[in-house]
Amino acid sequence: MLFTDLKLIKPILDALIKEGYTKPTPIQQGAIPHILAGRDLLGCAQTGTGKTAAFAIPMLQLLAKPTTMQGGGQRPIRALILTPTRELAIQIQESFNAYGANLRLKNLVIFGGVNQGPQVNELRRGIDVLVATPGRLLDLMSQGFINLKDIEIFVLDEADRMLDMGFVHDVKRVITKLPSKRQTLFFSATMPGEIQSLANSILTNPEKVEV
Ligand code: AMP
Repeated sequence: MLFTDLKLIKPILDALIKEGYTKPTPIQQGAIPHILAGRDLLGCAQTGTGKTAAFAIPMLQLLAKPTTMQGGGQRPIRALILTPTRELAIQIQESFNAYGANLRLKNLVIFGGVNQGPQVNELRRGIDVLVATPGRLLDLMSQGFINLKDIEIFVLDEADRMLDMGFVHDVKRVITKLPSKRQTLFFSATMPGEIQSLANSILTNPEKVEV
């Protein structure tokens, strides 16, 4: 199978060619069609399998369609990716930038341990896709700089590491601020009981993809 078999739009295919990608990895082959169809997804995959592109590519294609919630007010944040570490957050944003290079979507990455000023300035200008670690996200939400009410697609990345790092309470707090009508993509390398029940509580009739 090739990327050209996955019903991707030309601006994305062109960006993938520029990255030197031709063949989708197994997680990408399994996940991309379901995500494009609007389904929730439970993905069991480790870093190194191509899991970032497995969600970023179809998300960019879905977001390339303009939002229905236009007119008046600030442009809303349409997609949120929650990930446990700053390094992962940066890698994910770089992936969105690379695969979305030919689209007019604005991405922002936020994480703690740095001055919030530049992050707040970017938020004020308006962004479409937000990549965040839980602590800084909740912090900026509580200060009123971020509203998640228009999120169309939510990704929980590395859910088992979130649990190991003690972020599950923060993650659950973020989820209470998301609209109930949304598409949710859940990724974890392992599926212990606590992760399975978190997945069950936030996914609706998910497709399962395991690699
Ligand atoms: P990840 O599992 O998301 O951390 O991705 C692992 C690495 O594989 C990253 O450096 C990606 O740029 C690269 N990659 C992902 N998908 C593909 C693909 N289909 N073809 C070639 N490289 C890829």
